[in-house]
Amino acid sequence: MTNLPHSLREELAASVPFSTLAVETERTSRDGTVKTLFRTADGHPVEAVLMRYRDGRRSLCLSSQSGCPLTCTFCATGQMAFGRNLTASEILDQALHFRRVEPVDHAVFMGMGEPMLNLDEVLAAARRLPDLGITPRRTTISTVGWLPGLRRFVDEVDEPIRLALSLHAPNDELRSRIMPVNDRYPLREILAECRRHFLATNRRVYVEYVMLAGVNDSRDQARELAALLGDGFKVNLIPYNPTGMYDGSSRASIAAFKAELDRAHVPATVRLTRGRDIEAACGQLAAAPKMRAPRSPAPA
Ligand code: SAH
Repeated sequence: MTNLPHSLREELAASVPFSTLAVETERTSRDGTVKTLFRTADGHPVEAVLMRYRDGRRSLCLSSQSGCPLTCTFCATGQMAFGRNLTASEILDQALHFRRVEPVDHAVFMGMGEPMLNLDEVLAAARRLPDLGITPRRTTISTVGWLPGLRRFVDEVDEPIRLALSLHAPNDELRSRIMPVNDRYPLREILAECRRHFLATNRRVYVEYVMLAGVNDSRDQARELAALLGDGFKVNLIPYNPTGMYDGSSRASIAAFKAELDRAHVPATVRLTRGRDIEAACGQLAAAPKMRAPRSPAPA
């Protein structure tokens, strides 16, 4: 294909209905969110989501791997078997699938998998997204803080691609309990990389913090989080989408947690949940729902 002019290759890639992925099922939520389950040619499941917002924004949630080798305790993908890294084409074909239906303008690598374990393919795909109408500033790569990939991202990525860090706990003890990867790469080291990114680019790192009732959602923990972060971060509080052994924090606890961050002048927002009724919300992308752990009963 490289014997064709670049512009023609782009045009073909964007318009020819030809994909490395086959659509297996597609579901549409009451709020307009669409979740698609694809299969790779060798049979691995891949899920991607299109989120439609009232202001006209169209955001894609893309997968970087089929399954995930990390075992975050609150995440559905972490509970299914790891398949393999996706190729750049398989990542881009997720986006092209939705782009054929309507224009899209944002992308987040928050589907299945850990992007920093597959950084070359993720970056190759991200660098093609502008051809589909998604600029680097509107592209976000989210990571648990897999240090080798994170370091490379900070060192090598010149485009203004947004970095998001899935933090979820204000100290190592708790974080290791809910995210085993933390034993390997502790907070101090990954936050140092994020600060290096902020200093080099002046772009804040988005901290994702999923709100788990009685686990990480107390006012003390909010204060601890504010002290841990300091400058250079913006916190996104994520209502938990039940997929396993936790209960989500109440709206009141989330508001109280946010109020503590506000008081400490740490910018924070509460994430809007999309596609909950079709299990398309954060962390719910798992092609084998029967493999999910049962939910614990809600406290009285
Ligand atoms: N591996 C990457 C990207 C995929 S997950 C990462 O962890 O950042 C995208 C986001 O969804 C992460 O912040 C993840 O922690 C969060 N998430 C996972 N399970 C969730 C759930 N059940 N409810 C809400 N958010 C969840």
